Amino acid sequence: MPRPTSTPSSTSAHTINMATSSPSTPNPAPPAGIPATTRPRSDNIDPSAYIAPSVGLPTTVSPSSLGDFKTCPRLYRFRHLEKIQEPPSEVMVRGSMVHDALDELFSQPPEKRSKEVLHDIFRAVWLKRRDKYLELFPSTEDQRAFGMAGLKLLSNYLKVETPAEQEPLMREFRMRVPFPDGPSVTGILDRVDLEPGSGEWVVVDYKTGKAPALKYSDAVNERIMNDKFFQLKVYALLLEQVKQRTPTRLKLIYLDGPTVMSMRLRREDLAETKTELLGLWERIVGAWKADSFPATPGKLCEWCSFKSICPAWNFTREEGGEVEGMKSVGGVEGDAWVAGRDAKGGVAQG
Ligand code: SF4
Repeated sequence: MPRPTSTPSSTSAHTINMATSSPSTPNPAPPAGIPATTRPRSDNIDPSAYIAPSVGLPTTVSPSSLGDFKTCPRLYRFRHLEKIQEPPSEVMVRGSMVHDALDELFSQPPEKRSKEVLHDIFRAVWLKRRDKYLELFPSTEDQRAFGMAGLKLLSNYLKVETPAEQEPLMREFRMRVPFPDGPSVTGILDRVDLEPGSGEWVVVDYKTGKAPALKYSDAVNERIMNDKFFQLKVYALLLEQVKQRTPTRLKLIYLDGPTVMSMRLRREDLAETKTELLGLWERIVGAWKADSFPATPGKLCEWCSFKSICPAWNFTREEGGEVEGMKSVGGVEGDAWVAGRDAKGGVAQG
């Protein structure tokens, strides 16, 4: 059984419970969809070699691609329509290995789901993949620091759940559901548990970052929580179609903390999620028809793989052609800037 959760810190209309083993701290990591690295990523793609291609309308979306579109339509175009290859980052590699280790833990019988076994699984996963990522971890110290950080996240996991008491019905479960008059929606969920006693289905997702700090007004906190749970609500919608069964609870496990956030799922949440999903799809279709995927820069750009080719950071002004760096934070509509090469040879796309 999961450890009991504490009183919600938000007065959201939804039932949101939070359990944390340490005080909540501001979340310094970028949101889902923007890969975090330990270094700014402005030199990842050579701007002089980049010309924005024309792109087709996608036939599938996922909660993470929709999240990218919400965060920054230009990011969505780069990543999901142009499909520009992004270099791996330390955080992405660690996240993937931690997920794999937790998945493998649950293939063990309950009595073997110990900390030692979990750490051994992580070490084995690292040994298998190490050669692939040597560029990211050139020295033994780098590798050691990387490994220790992964082991810490896994130890944190054991502070908020007792894996021997969990009964996963599904793990790493892939779904793809076509929506009439819309796209196919895909998703890979981490885990679905059968709640002992009630027999309810609980959708569980691991996050290797920190939980959001709910320190704002009730309305803002509720918006943050809705954003954070959007992915799991979409999974619940897909599960309804694929398994003809509706989960009743959603659980986010933030391993950097650690913090557990859970939410009881209501019927109206599913209806709202479907409306939001189809609304986002309409916006994507509209953006594609107009070929207008505005860049919406902010502090998260430092972690964006595409900063070196992003029009918000590489542009010339229409009047006078003065070359400037990014100065304001806010939406930059594509037609507000002219396409061309800036003084450094970078391509600015309108
Ligand atoms: S650098 Fe910032 S504005 Fe540009 S695509 Fe990335 S997130 Fe969007």
